[in-house]
Amino acid sequence: MTRAPDPIRNVVIVGGGTAGWMAAAALSRLAGNGVTRVTLVESDEIATVGVGEATIPPIRQFNALLGLDENDFIAHTQGSIKLGIVFDGWTRPDHRYQHPFGSFGFDMEAVKFHQFWLKLHSQGLASGIDDYNLCATMVNKEKFTRPVPDPSSVLSQITYAFHFDAGLYAAYLRRYAEARGVTRIEGKVAQVPLDPESGFIQSVVLESGKRIEGDLFIDCSGFRGLLIEGALQTGYEDWTHWLPCDRALAVPSANVTPPKPYTRAMARPAGWQWRIPLQHRTGNGHVYCSQFTTDEQAADILMSNLEGPALADPKPLRFTTGRRRKMWNRNCVALGLASGFLEPLESTSIHLIQAGISKLLALFPDRSFNPVNEEAFNRLSQMQFEQVRDFIILHYKANGRPEPFWQRAASMSVPDSLRHKMELFRACGRLFRHEDDLFAESSWIAVLLGQGVTPERWDPLADTIDPGLVRHNLDRLRTVFTRAADAMPSHGEFLARTCPAPRQS
Ligand code: FAD
Repeated sequence: MTRAPDPIRNVVIVGGGTAGWMAAAALSRLAGNGVTRVTLVESDEIATVGVGEATIPPIRQFNALLGLDENDFIAHTQGSIKLGIVFDGWTRPDHRYQHPFGSFGFDMEAVKFHQFWLKLHSQGLASGIDDYNLCATMVNKEKFTRPVPDPSSVLSQITYAFHFDAGLYAAYLRRYAEARGVTRIEGKVAQVPLDPESGFIQSVVLESGKRIEGDLFIDCSGFRGLLIEGALQTGYEDWTHWLPCDRALAVPSANVTPPKPYTRAMARPAGWQWRIPLQHRTGNGHVYCSQFTTDEQAADILMSNLEGPALADPKPLRFTTGRRRKMWNRNCVALGLASGFLEPLESTSIHLIQAGISKLLALFPDRSFNPVNEEAFNRLSQMQFEQVRDFIILHYKANGRPEPFWQRAASMSVPDSLRHKMELFRACGRLFRHEDDLFAESSWIAVLLGQGVTPERWDPLADTIDPGLVRHNLDRLRTVFTRAADAMPSHGEFLARTCPAPRQS
């Protein structure tokens, strides 16, 4: 007979960075059952990382789950729109390509669009692949308007995410969560006592001596992983042999142009630099590998490649790429940096927090803590982290730069899962992705082609369709996208009209 669950009474979240407040906001919905209380502990003495500023489109689902008003959210976080990433210098110094959101063209008679494009492009009959993606066309023209729901309109294809100020985002979610009953406690966790028999976390004890008991603990304490590692010693799988960058410097600079609707990722001799435009400033950072450069050289490169004057000194960060062996261990679930780290090349960390929260809600335990929930959570988390890992490694493996850091990356052996994908694509432009892969086929195509993985042949099925018709369709598509983008407001105008942020003094 099916029995009633023994509901969790106290959820304790440790950490008030992006992960902690995203979890608190989402879990505040639990308070509706009248039984579960959510408490968040954070220490004003321990700063948050505070640099997660670029996101990917599923963030809009998270905002929708919370019922946030998008204009209000953008304005309160000094946000801007992101339509994709522009990569500079990854295959050679003057080369540029885009990873735009949304798809390229449309398939014809079950033959993939990019196969027609490969054929026509190689014959000099098609322009760059970006011209056949609406978001990429909007990036080139720095335009934006919101999508329309009518699927027959070209504007229904607009896919977007956001750039925002991570500190303001956490503050925004904090107001949301507190208004829905989440209790915030300020204090530094000093001890994490375990139950001697089960090894479960019993409570967290603050430096003040205050003890906070819980049934379920969510570790959002950042890189230190205070509960998942400090108390439970879960272990960490190190991926530095594939992704050896281990340091970053982050610095804000003044805006000198209206914010652009895309992130920039510029390859540098021993790493890469990001540029993220917000309404009140631009976020910049240099991710680099300490084996191949010094902190001083890295700082020089960053500071001499800012568009506007720096607004602060560069902030140093250190990390080890990899993942916690289990992201759910006993009665503790790790989210955010406590669960693992992948460099922000494809802006995936905040997404992985969101994905962790969704899985936790879908597998939410009761006080019996049936281990099947933990196992399912860990299996899915591992797969998601590995899929993102492979996608990021691709940017390094398929590079054409001369510096030792890049040469090493080009000659490394990569995970089999990625090797198979690259080989198949190189042979005939074919691609098979796992159905749960975060990155759509269009993302893989954009980065594979952008990084210079050029198929040797196109799909023979592309030859079965009238070449005149194919050419007509491609030409028409490019014209429709160009006209649609031309008619849109500039991204700067869109922000000023619909979601202007308060001016900062
Ligand atoms: P943190 O921000 O480190 O927060 C930890 C919290 O734990 C703090 O509130 C702290 O006070 C608290 N805490 C710690 N110890 C204790 C204690 N003993 N007692 C009480 N409280 C404690 N992600 C993206 O999606 N897009 C990006 O563009 C992006 N860029 C990044 C660039 C860099 C260089 C780095 C390093 C990360 C980037 N990320 C990005 C990742 C993103 O910053 C993080 O995923 C996000 O900020 C979540 O951090 P967090 O909340 O897990 O940890």
